[in-house]
Amino acid sequence: MTPDEVKQAIQGRLIVSCQASEGDTFHGPQLMSRFAAAAVAGGAAAIRANGPADVRAIRSVTTVPIIGIHKVRHHDGLVLITPSFESAKALVESGADMIAIDCTERGQQVGALGLISEIHAQLNVPVLADIADVEHATSALESGADFLLSTLRGHTEGTNHMRKFDRSFIEELVRTSRVPVIAEGWVSSPEEARQAIAAGALSVVVGTAITRPTEIARSFAVAIESEYTRRNALNYAIGIDLGGTQTKYGIVRSDGVLLFKSAVETPAKSGARALLDSLKRVIATATKRAVELGYEPAAIGVATAGWVEETGRVVYATDNLPGWTGTPIGEELALASDLPVAVENDANALAVGEKYFGAAISFDDFVCLTLGTGLGVGCYIGGVLNRGKHYLANQLGHIPLVANGVLCSCGVRGCLESYVNAAALIRYAGNSHSTAAQVIAAANAGDEKANAALRTLACHLARGCATLIALLDPQALILGGGLTENNPFLITVLFEELAKLVRPWEDRCLRIIPSQLGYYGGVLGAAALAFERVYSLEPNTS
Ligand SMILES: [Zn+2]
Repeated sequence: MTPDEVKQAIQGRLIVSCQASEGDTFHGPQLMSRFAAAAVAGGAAAIRANGPADVRAIRSVTTVPIIGIHKVRHHDGLVLITPSFESAKALVESGADMIAIDCTERGQQVGALGLISEIHAQLNVPVLADIADVEHATSALESGADFLLSTLRGHTEGTNHMRKFDRSFIEELVRTSRVPVIAEGWVSSPEEARQAIAAGALSVVVGTAITRPTEIARSFAVAIESEYTRRNALNYAIGIDLGGTQTKYGIVRSDGVLLFKSAVETPAKSGARALLDSLKRVIATATKRAVELGYEPAAIGVATAGWVEETGRVVYATDNLPGWTGTPIGEELALASDLPVAVENDANALAVGEKYFGAAISFDDFVCLTLGTGLGVGCYIGGVLNRGKHYLANQLGHIPLVANGVLCSCGVRGCLESYVNAAALIRYAGNSHSTAAQVIAAANAGDEKANAALRTLACHLARGCATLIALLDPQALILGGGLTENNPFLITVLFEELAKLVRPWEDRCLRIIPSQLGYYGGVLGAAALAFERVYSLEPNTS
């Protein structure tokens, strides 16, 4: 074949290098010819093969062009590619259409550049120069090489640290060469092969990634084993849930087990400094306890009332925590503890907890509602925690439900929260009970008035939920908080009411389920957040 005919045959196509060294399971001409046949069936336009025996066997099964090479162990103990005229001649006689030779310094030392013209003159086949850098390329071109191959990049003294596909090297070769450049070496995926073509290569030689089952198996095995180890390594985090009255905290294992838990009073009205000092004391106590129990916490997660930036600074907090707005919680606690700290709005943290450890493991779109003194909402949209552009999203409690209605804690009248919180339930029951839990207990005991109060609350909640269902089309609503405890009736009525308000209803297959995280859900959520930020863990869906 002439260089032009070769170019015609291989341009824009795959070349598969079919080689197996001695000791390899697939070593031997018979097996190599099968690999070659499989490669051609898959679209290879040419084959690169080592040694006359392999070339002859491959020639007998295919008509595509064969690049012949002969790897010979040199007296320095290292392999040289086609170092002599005799080796080139034997390859051509066995059916090779062209010859590739080592044109690096080592090849040049044994006469590679002179060999180019000798092969041209006596064997009349194209010569391909296997090179490792631009200097080799230049010498090979001056000596008449017909194609350049990047084969030996990463295999010479000067380049042996470059052991991965390097698109920029191909670009550099293409820029400096007047003959076609063929990319070879370290191409491990179709994407890298595509990049080689994008870089200007005429065609791409792929070897190991196609013809070395042992190496292919190894790459899968390593990926699987390392990810499995990473995923199943047990780590520990301190989770803290800063609420308006109590600060709950604990040590959480990365599989969601709460190993230690406790709570202190929140100095809610004493300002940011006092709140931070209280958090630091909590961290010190939890750290001490962890050491006693033999765990080493790797991160801290804090769930707090208020809305929080990714950096851990409070964007906005209500008067429940005066002075909290603007506090750089994350920065302060990281400085004090020397551990990575993740901070998040408490309702968002609960949603993270449900996603990692609770009822939402298999959901990508869900909304967590916490019904207590207020209405907390956290949600995932398409598998991502929804924070909003200014970290102020999910304030479902403050959607205006009733014109000129009850005055809300936010200062606006008629917010949903004022119709579905604990105070509302006591109000609906005629103020004859002092706590929401008492109303629920009375309803469970058959008290008609308490029952009606629960129904009223559920009807209001349904109107709010209908809004977010219409907006987000979630797979599930997950209900938690004091008002949902011991209160299955709430979910029953909410479901009935939503069926009346939402269209279409059946098609949504909406599930309404109780939270599985319990009283320390905020602590678990905060820890899940810490694990997510520190280890980039993905939810365990197995
Ligand atoms: Zn409000």
